[in-house]
Amino acid sequence: GENSNLTVGIRIRPMNFKELNDPKILSVVKVKGTDIIVDCESTQHTFHYDHCFVSYTDTSRPTHASQKIVFDGMVLPLVHNAFEGYNVCLFAYGQTGSGKSYSMMGSESITSTLSVPCDDAGIIPRFCYEIFLQAALNNNITTVEISYFEIYNEKIHDLLGNNSNISGSKRAPLKVREHPVLGPHVVDLTQHVVQNYEDLQTWLKVGNSQRATAATGMNEKSSRSHSIFSIILTQEQKDSTMSKSSKLVDTSRRSKINLVDLAGSERLSQTCASGDRLREGVSINKSLLILGKVIASLAESTNNRKRGFVPYRESVLTWLLKESLGGNSKTAMLATVSPSSLHLEETLATLRYACQARSIINRVRINEDPHD
Ligand code: ADP
Ligand code: MG
Repeated sequence: GENSNLTVGIRIRPMNFKELNDPKILSVVKVKGTDIIVDCESTQHTFHYDHCFVSYTDTSRPTHASQKIVFDGMVLPLVHNAFEGYNVCLFAYGQTGSGKSYSMMGSESITSTLSVPCDDAGIIPRFCYEIFLQAALNNNITTVEISYFEIYNEKIHDLLGNNSNISGSKRAPLKVREHPVLGPHVVDLTQHVVQNYEDLQTWLKVGNSQRATAATGMNEKSSRSHSIFSIILTQEQKDSTMSKSSKLVDTSRRSKINLVDLAGSERLSQTCASGDRLREGVSINKSLLILGKVIASLAESTNNRKRGFVPYRESVLTWLLKESLGGNSKTAMLATVSPSSLHLEETLATLRYACQARSIINRVRINEDPHD
């Protein structure tokens, strides 16, 4: 395998109506190239990343980071990696309301029935659209299989499955199992072959409505749950090279793609902050907490050049994303932040976390299977 650093991008959402209309609330985050500068009373904090996307300016400005600009800058390379046969992963990290779901899914894409992504479509619809586009350009036989699930309170729920059993009661949560070849996977998760962008939109509608209606309080749930959209991209390549036995050699390439919308990171800071846990009665988001530990131990192992114990199996999320974190996957993190002084502490926490993630090094290889 070869080394591949985790790529990190920061996206700053626009000020919302409430923030714009409160004179006490200021914009405190600035971007200079790939540096982020945060004004913190009399001091300034500077952070360096691979990509910085400014989405707080007027949308008419050419420098405004639209959905397309974010996709082209940070995600398109991952689509190419997937076609080369690498596993890829992208996860959105940030506090609730900072733009994770907007970036991953977009808002209008859910109801759109267009055959191309609308301007507002996020990373997930664009990723799939791009796969169909690229697949049409080559001569391989390409198969696209999707699954979509969420982790809520350490329990896995299929967002594309038949949600109730015959008696109409809710299905039991799904379990993770370690497969000898494929690694950790979700048992009985439904997989759906999609042929085109219209198919995909139909499934996204199903999944996104499951995500919303299953909740008792919608915002509450989406801030506490992690959603994972997975794609398995398989390419059967008809090669013209002759093997020893003079038969045509087929090669197949397989890529596992994970696109992850994490629970709100404020869960983590609230959990870690001393004393706050009991006072506010915040339940520990175990997956987010362990994700932090996994990232910290991987970042540390980069620094002292040897890998200690990484607690992958201590949470459902990190167990399932084991390959994506320190393993065989080209991985990127999109950290989303608010520009406003109101969220200064959370923004600094997110920016520090993102810096730490940037030092993670994965060992990647092409998943190719030549056979006669
Ligand atoms: P999160 O998923 O992190 O909780 P959302 O994606 O739901 O946050 O974003 C919160 C609100 O801000 C939504 O109304 C969303 O449409 C808006 N928003 C976030 N990022 C952007 C952006 N880059 N451009 C325009 N609106 C945005
Ligand atoms: Mg969200």
